[in-house]
Amino acid sequence: MAVASGVVAQPLFRAPVGTRDILPPESVRRRRLVSVFADLADRSGFELLESPIFEELGVFQRLGANNDVVTKELFEFFDKGDPPRHLALRPELTASVCRAFAEHRPTVPWKIWYSGPQFRYERPQAGRYRQFDQVGVETLGTDDPYADVEVIGLGVRFYEALGMRQVRLQINSLGDAESRPAYDAALADYLQNRRGELSEQSRVTLERNPLRVLDSKREQDQPVIAAAPVMADFLSGASAEHFVAVKAGLDSLDAAYEVSPRLVRGLDYYTRTTFEFVADALDTAQNAVGGGGRYDGLVEELGGPPTPGIGFALGVDRILLACDAEGAFGGASPPVQVFVVDVAGGLNAAVLCDRLRQAGLGVDRAFGGRSMKAQMKRADRSGASVAVIVGPDEQAAGTATVRDMRPGGGQRQVPEPEVVVAVAEMLAGAAP
Ligand code: AMP
Repeated sequence: MAVASGVVAQPLFRAPVGTRDILPPESVRRRRLVSVFADLADRSGFELLESPIFEELGVFQRLGANNDVVTKELFEFFDKGDPPRHLALRPELTASVCRAFAEHRPTVPWKIWYSGPQFRYERPQAGRYRQFDQVGVETLGTDDPYADVEVIGLGVRFYEALGMRQVRLQINSLGDAESRPAYDAALADYLQNRRGELSEQSRVTLERNPLRVLDSKREQDQPVIAAAPVMADFLSGASAEHFVAVKAGLDSLDAAYEVSPRLVRGLDYYTRTTFEFVADALDTAQNAVGGGGRYDGLVEELGGPPTPGIGFALGVDRILLACDAEGAFGGASPPVQVFVVDVAGGLNAAVLCDRLRQAGLGVDRAFGGRSMKAQMKRADRSGASVAVIVGPDEQAAGTATVRDMRPGGGQRQVPEPEVVVAVAEMLAGAAP
């Protein structure tokens, strides 16, 4: 309670469980990662879609009634409408992209990329958060197997562009509406027969969605999973042909992959191609750094016309953890090129910073009338190549000293109006 003196110990708030502040320099590195992805996606004909961070609950419910992401992990809430609307923070972006497609009916193929935070109420642990970032692409309106190859190839090239060397691509086909029912029935039969050998959790999963039992990482389930029927034996002619074309396409790009017959992935809506990117540098529990697949029925589920689609989402947080483990994509480049040191007081530093920034340079300064020594230390730490120094002598003479901070660099005293040009020349010149 507030007391008259106004001195009360305030509670120390922390970021909510499962979330965290991404502080510099990690935040800078993360933004660089997104620009590497954006550049690759732009150059591949994908365009940015920005959709709302929350949607009507129903949008996500279309992802499947047996899906943990929908049944257990949604952050749902009611707004203040009358009647209130039932909304949810997005747990992933494919549903939003399909909802946007159904709403706007763009011409196809619609090639979209995205990046941003997703929310899942999961048990937090290393590499698993309640708010995490994804980047992704989706191609809607074509079932050409080479669209699958383009999407998967983009993922492969992205990890390469980050300098990652220990990412494996696993692919599988889940068949289509024609091949799935026979497989689902055979799998359910098989698992029911060996029910007694399964872990308790997998027995529960079996009742809800037999396919998801194949996702189990529990030791006890592995012998049963290893001998389970595989989709490959049940593929329809069309699905089998599609899968052959995707594999041939990846071969022709020299994109290495493993066919992983039991890869089913978490979300229920996948048909035909599914894939996952696995980082060997991470612990097996959280080593999926991305994944995706074809979802030929989702747009229709959301009220749109029958529209095939293929896409992926890559987990930014985990990719950065894997980069750390591999020693890849390190070192944020210093954005500051020039540091203005003003020991004369007054407005020189403010004016010089403004002029240098207007000239397009990265510029920082110190505050609070610190000593020359303290300010030069800051300048050093900023990573700037050039310091602009204004002392009492310079101020009196209407000049500034422009100093090359790189080893062996010299300095010049120039009239104030010429500072921008002198700095640009010094930056452009080879480091002495
Ligand atoms: P999904 O949409 O489940 O296929 O997830 C795609 C990728 O997002 C995964 O491969 C992970 O890299 C990442 N991801 C999913 N859930 C989380 C989470 N709770 N925390 C951090 N990353 C996640």
